[in-house]
Amino acid sequence: METKDYLQMMREIKDFAFATVDESGRPEVRIIDIMMVEDDCLYFLTARGKDFYQRLLGQEFVALTGLTKNWEMLSLRGRVRQVSQEYLQPIFEQNPSMNEVYPGDSRNILEVFCLYEGQGEYFNLSGMPIYRETFLVGQPEEVYRGFLITDGCIECGQCAAVCPQQCIASAAPYVIRQENCLHCGLCAETCPVTAIDKRTSL
Ligand code: SF4
Ligand code: SF4
Repeated sequence: METKDYLQMMREIKDFAFATVDESGRPEVRIIDIMMVEDDCLYFLTARGKDFYQRLLGQEFVALTGLTKNWEMLSLRGRVRQVSQEYLQPIFEQNPSMNEVYPGDSRNILEVFCLYEGQGEYFNLSGMPIYRETFLVGQPEEVYRGFLITDGCIECGQCAAVCPQQCIASAAPYVIRQENCLHCGLCAETCPVTAIDKRTSL
């Protein structure tokens, strides 16, 4: 699927856990609604009195994750920026229940942010093998995660034998089907010649 499809899926899930860190670097998480998707950006709100608002202004970066009823997880880490309050009108039109929470002019305590650049992942645990796919919002530098079999492979086959998802193919060198990999690391721990590298991770 394309980025726009994943963002639309996120809008349908709507309730996401948004993570930031506080002034001491300790993690914080809260549920925030994705209010609108437009031009490959995610829009959400917070009120000026909330700690979350201060975090967004100070860090301009969030990580969020949500789950469908079918065990499909969508996560996204990326840069955010505050945008004009003019976005409140289309957001309230698309989310009419907001009129009950912030009736009349009280909506003006809200500020609108958009996530405009980042890297996301779709992760489906409901099938066998599992399936994951990365998607990019904007033009960030892509970060690769998981494990990679290097040229040091002596083709013994031990990694393929232990892989819980059977996602390592026999080749020279052996190769991991990245879209089906759990990132569990069992192959790397098993390899007798340490030919499996861990790539950049969270
Ligand atoms: S266990 Fe190591 S050496 Fe053996 S096939 Fe896998 S990567 Fe290659
Ligand atoms: S990390 Fe786990 S799932 Fe992925 S290839 Fe290695 S053993 Fe298989």
